[in-house]
Order: sequence, then C-alpha cells, then structure tokens
Amino acid sequence: MTRTDAARKSHYRVVVIGGGDAGISVAARLNRRGVHDVAIVEPSAEHYYQPLWTLVGGGLVAARKTVRREASVLPRGSAWIRDRATGVDPENRLVHLHSGSVGYDRLVVAPGIQLDWDATPGMQDALTTPFASSNYSFRLAPKTWEVMRDLERGTAVFTMPTSPIKCPGAPQKIAYLCADHWRRRGVLGAIRVVLVLPGAGLFGIPVFARALAQAVEEYGIEVRFNTEVVEIDGDSRRIELLDNAAGAKESLDYDALHVAPPQSAPNWVKRGPLADGDSSYGYIEVDKHTLQHVRFPEVFALGDVANTPNSKTGAAIRKQAPVVVANLMSSLSGEPLSAVYDGYAACPFTTARNRMLLAEFDYACNHRPSIPLIDTTRPRYDMWLLKRYGLPFLYWNVLLRGIG
Ligand SMILES: Cc1cc2nc3c(=O)[nH]c(=O)nc-3n(C[C@H](O)[C@H](O)[C@H](O)COP(=O)(O)OP(=O)(O)OC[C@H]3O[C@@H](n4cnc5c(N)ncnc54)[C@H](O)[C@@H]3O)c2cc1C
Repeated sequence: MTRTDAARKSHYRVVVIGGGDAGISVAARLNRRGVHDVAIVEPSAEHYYQPLWTLVGGGLVAARKTVRREASVLPRGSAWIRDRATGVDPENRLVHLHSGSVGYDRLVVAPGIQLDWDATPGMQDALTTPFASSNYSFRLAPKTWEVMRDLERGTAVFTMPTSPIKCPGAPQKIAYLCADHWRRRGVLGAIRVVLVLPGAGLFGIPVFARALAQAVEEYGIEVRFNTEVVEIDGDSRRIELLDNAAGAKESLDYDALHVAPPQSAPNWVKRGPLADGDSSYGYIEVDKHTLQHVRFPEVFALGDVANTPNSKTGAAIRKQAPVVVANLMSSLSGEPLSAVYDGYAACPFTTARNRMLLAEFDYACNHRPSIPLIDTTRPRYDMWLLKRYGLPFLYWNVLLRGIG
C-alpha cells in the first residue's frame, strides 16, 4: 500500500519531485529493483496522459480517457507526499514543501514544465472567448473541438511560441486534424488555415520535413516561418505576428484560434540553485548523457524540466527513466555512472484523422526508427492505431509500472 502524509517520515533514501510521466516511471523502476524507501512529492489527485490531448482537441477521444487517479499509478510501497515542492536545498539535501521539508540521500526532480499563459499579452483573455482554445490544458482541450468543429468559412490560426515546449509537434498536429475534418465536410476551400511557426522549417530532419510539407500543400495551409505571436486581442479576434527574420509585423483577424503557450521551468526551479544559468528558461542543469546534476551529484533530473537538448516528449522519458535509475543505483553504491541517454525522442505526427507518421531521432538528429520492417517516415493508418490505442496502453500498463 502507498503511504500518505499520515505516515510521513523526515528522510527518505530517494525523493522524487513530481508524480507525472517521468516521476512515476522512475519510482516504479526503483521499486522493481528493490529500492523501497522512496517518497513521491505530488500535489495532484489526478494523473494525465497528455499525448492524447491532441486527439481530444481533434474530437477523436473523450478527455476522460486521458486521466486516472494518481493513487492508482503510484508504485506499491512508495510514500506519497501529497504536497507541492517549493524549493531544493542541495547543500543540506532537503526538499522544501508547503508543509515543511523532507530530506533525501538521492533526489530525482521531475515536476514538468510551466505553461506561461501570461507571457503573451492577451492570450489568457482570448482563451475565455468562444473562439480560442489550447490542447495544452486538460480543461481546454475539449473546447478546441468546439471552436473548430462547426467552422464553415473564415480564418483559423494555429500558433507555436519561440520557447522550447513540450511536444513541439503538437501545434502542427491539431492544424492537420482540423484541416482534414474541414476537407471531409467540404468546407476547407472556404477556410484560410494559417500555421505560425518560430523556426525556419516544419521539422529539423529532411525526411520528416518533406512528409509534413506534403500535408501542408494538400490542405492548402499558409505557413508563417520564423514568426511569433506578440499579442492577441480576443475581443476583436485579432492576432499580432512578428516575422523575426524579416522584422515585419502582421495583423491577422481570426475566426478560430489554437495557441500553444510559451513555456519554461517552474518558477521555483528557475529561481533555485539547480537551474541552468545559461538561459531565461531556467531548466535543471544536468549532464545530457548521465542526467546527473552537474554541480550536485546526489541530484538527477529528467523529463520536461531537464535542460537536455532533446525534444521534450514522453517518448524521451521512456529512454531517460532507465538511465536515471541505473545511474542513481550506481551512485547509491558508490560506483561510477555508466548508463547513457543519447537524446532519443519521438514525435507521432497525426497528419490526418486516420494517418500518422512517427518521427524518431536522437541528439545528433539521426533518424532512429524503433519499429522494424515498416516505413514510419510516411503517414500510415497502422501508426494512427498505435497513437490512439498502442501508445496509451504501453503508457499505463508498461512504462508507469517500470517494466522493460
Ligand atoms: C498537447 C500535448 C501533446 C503531447 N503529445 C505528445 C506525444 O504525442 N508524444 C509524446 O511523447 N509526448 C507528448 N506530449 C508531451 C508529454 O506529455 C510530456 O513530455 C510528458 O508528460 C512530460 O513528463 P514529466 O513527468 O516531465 O511532466 P508531467 O507529466 O507534466 O508531470 C509533472 C508532474 O509534476 C507535478 N508537479 C508540478 N509542480 C510540482 C511541484 N512543485 N511539486 C511536486 N510536483 C509537482 C505535476 O502535478 C505533474 O503530476 C504532449 C504534451 C501535450 C501537452
């Protein structure tokens, strides 16, 4: 049974901050390897499978299919500290909480990423209108479908910020799902679809960029490269864009809007001693191969909060969690760290309502296919089935149980 606050101790062998994808994947693996004196600091009573939020926004999955009780995913034997971390004192090996503090021998930091809705003027207000939504929130993802479903003419805008974000493919995926819906209803020709991207291309690896360019062309989507959203006026349904390459500004009137908010490390991480001082995003400064903190060897970090230069995805965590566990165990027994994370990440691009391509790659942007025999670089129906059914099954039944 999982212990809760009532039985809380003041010190654990391992403390894990965050009971999301990364935190539970690590805690479950530690449990299977016989490390039982583990506490998970997690304030939420719910655990979310966020990759399905894209399909929720596309009207293909009910939001309730993406959430389970946190208690149901906590590994047996670990303690659940139902509280929020507010800081870490690595010199004294303490995690500060709202309700006090807890000590550790080793610490795993995995509180995810912070959604900075306020960083773009007007974004919060626009999201309160019936014309704008975001798949980046469990509460808003069903609204995306309400905003997009009945559109028959006008302009639909899909945006991505300049900051690193979780699942960088998500802003494109929802544009393709909606465009395919409008095409099936015979109204796509009357809808101007605009995709706003901060980079110079659709994807950093040519084979995937070509496949996505084909989808863009088929749907007639206008792409604004090197462009960011600088302001949104929700009342007049107008969005201000800045082309950072040309230095040009553009105002667009929209009838439907999907935004991905700017993102960064949680404020308490950003302002604390574990943050990387190199950027304003404040992610935790770990060795990108061992995932051990560069200044505090008792500390490891993984998932969206780490400053590793991989694509921030659950797929990356699938490869990071075994590395953290192996190196943490070596560290506990005083041996050198030998497990290495190579930057693997994957992005399942839904290019239509029944098609997906699977972009898999590493730090060096090498294509790293993990499924034998089939060509996953082009959109396929079997890959869509993987996204809709296979990956959620793998998540709840294998990864969160520390199997493999
Ligand atoms: C719309 C969308 C689509 C996506 N699609 C894909 C996809 O197709 N494929 C893919 O691989 N990935 C996808 N992702 C990304 C994936 O969901 C994340 O990369 C992954 O969930 C990150 O895991 P994490 O454990 O780092 O953070 P999370 O899973 O977000 O968990 C963080 C946990 O920390 C807790 N927490 C927060 N603050 C504190 C605190 N102060 N103290 C203690 N606990 C705290 C939170 O409550 C949460 O439970 C998508 C994400 C979104 C939003």
